[in-house]
Amino acid sequence: MTATRTPGMPIIEAGHLVSTSPATGEEVGRFPVAGADGRRSEAESAGNQPPLSTGIAGAVGGDVSVVVERARAAADWWVGLGRAGRRARLLAFRAAIASRIPELADLMRREGGKPVIDAVVEIAAAVDHATWAARNAHRVLRSRRVRSSLLQMEYTARVEYQPYGVVGVIGPWNYPVYTPMGSIAYALAAGNTVVFKPSEYTPAVGQWLVDRFAEVVPDQPVLQVVHGLGETGAALCRAGVDKVAFTGSSRTGRLVMAACVDTLTPVLLECGGKDAMIVDADADLDAAADAAVWGGLYNAGQTCVGIERVYVTATVADDFVSRLVSRASRLKVGVEADSTVGPITMPGQIDVIRRHIADAVEAGGQAALGGVEAVRPPYVHPTILVDVPEESAAVREETFGPVLVVNRVRDADEAIARANAVPYGLGGSVFARRGALSLARRMRSGMTSVNSVLSFAGMPSVPFGGVGESGFGRVHGDDGLREFSRAKSITSRRSKSLLPAATFNRDPAKTADRIARIIKLLHGRP
Ligand code: NAD
Repeated sequence: MTATRTPGMPIIEAGHLVSTSPATGEEVGRFPVAGADGRRSEAESAGNQPPLSTGIAGAVGGDVSVVVERARAAADWWVGLGRAGRRARLLAFRAAIASRIPELADLMRREGGKPVIDAVVEIAAAVDHATWAARNAHRVLRSRRVRSSLLQMEYTARVEYQPYGVVGVIGPWNYPVYTPMGSIAYALAAGNTVVFKPSEYTPAVGQWLVDRFAEVVPDQPVLQVVHGLGETGAALCRAGVDKVAFTGSSRTGRLVMAACVDTLTPVLLECGGKDAMIVDADADLDAAADAAVWGGLYNAGQTCVGIERVYVTATVADDFVSRLVSRASRLKVGVEADSTVGPITMPGQIDVIRRHIADAVEAGGQAALGGVEAVRPPYVHPTILVDVPEESAAVREETFGPVLVVNRVRDADEAIARANAVPYGLGGSVFARRGALSLARRMRSGMTSVNSVLSFAGMPSVPFGGVGESGFGRVHGDDGLREFSRAKSITSRRSKSLLPAATFNRDPAKTADRIARIIKLLHGRP
């Protein structure tokens, strides 16, 4: 029986997740659904699904907790390879992706509707991150000597970073390669094995990645995939993983955290955003307009760190808006090879985008470009809303479409106050000549780019993550590697204690007197 299909809307048919193009409805792939902890998947129960393994080491369906057990068994082997062994395999993995970019980009276009150029830019960033994680894991995580304290000179001390074991990675659909790679590559480089639950909107891309890994690491299920709706993600949180790295909406992030409470499983939450750009009076307006259009409308505005609000100093606001409109109106919407704005991947989001635009206009905002009539499913044409009341949904909630709100402010101080007045705090951007760095520091966000937009996302050496409703924890960079490791301290005695504090084999009065005198000598002066 074939259910009625909305293009792009994932459906379950005979225990399989069926993925379709949001633009054309074409079926892109079907994947066995992994069942919740402790029960067999629908597909297996129906008897039409191969048990657990489909023959490739990384491609499995079935019971999520069994998949996690397999990952645990593989963890010893992965750790046993040592850093050099893991590095070589991760570099082979990234080479397998890098050498097949057109194939992967085409799959991303078909499954998510993303223009090929956007897909290629995304893959390039993901490959760069995987390379960086592989090459830097030893430097960041190796065992190193640290100084012991004056009071404990008889000990040597070391710090090292050990893997958690099995990391569950739950991914979104908007960047189906770059976003999970920020957790997968760093977790693997740190010595963990990974069970990956891709978004139900992009399972084919998730499967493609895991298949490439299985080709270069056929020995053990070091990276596996489980497919399904949110229920599969929830099952993964409860399946005995040692850490969950979640990327998705703040609403689901809360559910993930709640699911991890019973077992005290640590979580990393990379959630939504409502990023602001500040354009000060002395900014290069052409560069700022170009960056706002790209930062706001790239990937049809479906970017966690996409610019959704612009605060521009009043004296240059009209000039800025006209440059913005002139650029945005030139973009081509569609799924053709030369389109720059593709369809909205998640059909349900179209109602959210329409509501935000309608509310903003009703509340007095002006549509300098687009408007409610720009919403033509599965597309939303570029929309620029000016002077929108700050309490509107379009200013406070994540819109996740090609819609930019531009509000004029008195000066940069007011811009910062407004930028910081939402519960989200993911990324942001500042365009100014004077005082730009100070504005960037004052912006309440995990990342801010100066005179550029999104530049932090593709840079592997800097950490990525948010504050407030945007989540906590960091992927990328040194912090991203440590995020997937437990700090382990080892202290070793090298000589007898001159100040025997940690034994009962001492003279209490004499020892107390000596300790007090030494502490006074060391720390008694202000
Ligand atoms: P979503 O929260 O709907 O889904 C994300 C993932 O969670 C999917 O794989 C989904 O199946 C799974 N899931 C759903 N319910 C679950 C549950 N109860 N337990 C466990 N897993 C569950 O988000 P989405 O629509 O796929 O992605 C868009 C959102 O992701 C936006 O809010 C965007 O800002 C955010 N995002 C954030 C970042 C970041 O790095 N901060 C990056 C990309 C996207």
